[in-house]
Amino acid sequence: MSDKETKAIRLQAKRSHNREHSVPLYLTSSFLFEDAEQARAVFADEEEGNIYSRYSNPNVDELLEKVCYLEKAEDGFAFASGMAAVFSSMAALLQAGDHVLSARAVFGSTHQLLTKVFSKWGITYSYADANAPETWESLITPATKMIVVETPSNPGLELIDLEWLGELKKKHGLILLVDNCFATPILQTPTDYGADLVVHSATKYMDGQGRVLGGLVVGYKELISEIRFFARHTGPAMSPFNAWTISKSLETLSLRVERHCENALKLAQVLEGNEALEMVRYPFLPSFPQYELAKKQMKQGGGIVTFAVKGGYDAARKFIDNLKMISITSNLGDTRTIVTHPASTTHSKLSEEERQATGITPGLIRVSVGLESIDDIIEDITQALAKV
Ligand SMILES: *Cc1c(COP(=O)(O)O)cnc(C)c1O
Repeated sequence: MSDKETKAIRLQAKRSHNREHSVPLYLTSSFLFEDAEQARAVFADEEEGNIYSRYSNPNVDELLEKVCYLEKAEDGFAFASGMAAVFSSMAALLQAGDHVLSARAVFGSTHQLLTKVFSKWGITYSYADANAPETWESLITPATKMIVVETPSNPGLELIDLEWLGELKKKHGLILLVDNCFATPILQTPTDYGADLVVHSATKYMDGQGRVLGGLVVGYKELISEIRFFARHTGPAMSPFNAWTISKSLETLSLRVERHCENALKLAQVLEGNEALEMVRYPFLPSFPQYELAKKQMKQGGGIVTFAVKGGYDAARKFIDNLKMISITSNLGDTRTIVTHPASTTHSKLSEEERQATGITPGLIRVSVGLESIDDIIEDITQALAKV
């Protein structure tokens, strides 16, 4: 842990002749060559060097070096958004006729990719349920190429046993892609269990302050090199400005994540006895259905707490309208505490059955617990619940 903390601070782009202490922002679309011969050699991969910021950039490379270290991965590529990372990682490695085995509870846009985008190109998928691991193997076909999961899932907070999944993917020779956005590399390192690719929406905890969009994929060199080829020529690269911002944020990632978790656990503990609620879910609460698994594969429970308000849809919305401080927005992983009502917003396009299958009940509220004083967070939520 302390090693990750040090590297997230000390890995830096090479210092310039100006001897700057903090890394400057390399806002440049292209890079100069000393002469025609150097241009030829860099293009021919005989000499290392930047060519064009759609390919690489010092700020982006610094960010990638840190994330590779944190996720214990060999190589990576940075994208304009988390979805660009998910899409490019899959599009680069899949072709017509391939099949994807995906956890049912995946991010909304990942669901749209599987059901509406890749299906146009002859790539099929099956959904498997996190709470029925015994069914997964029977869904693997000779055409299956990749397994896609998120753990914990959004917003149902379902966990998938990464050790078990690593064995399954090894047995069938599949590519395992884990979206590690909710846990961050501070709480869980999927490569420890054999994940081939780890993707992130850096928009969330990595930036952590609700400012910029960004996405990352890290993993094995051979896979990343195919993804890099795809990305370099299709153009979803992360901007140097966003890379600089996120790299700076990583310096405080472990501090922030620890505090997010501490606040989230306290909030979950206080809410557990609240009479306005049907249930409270947080991976590190002993009442959490997968508490043992959470303890096994996560260092702390993460920054997201969910609960179901008695009275369902209308009661949940009434709760939100009575909040005084907490933000109503769909982002998460911000310094500011955020509430979301998934059934009427982020997951409103799913059918009622699809929502049920992923644990999104009409009264479900997702709280992304921020870094404000925990007393103020608890005060705001309990006063709003009292008015439901
Ligand atoms: C937000 C999110 C994404 C998408 O990331 P963007 O940066 O918004 O494109 C993907 N996966 C998970 C789990 C997310 O929370």
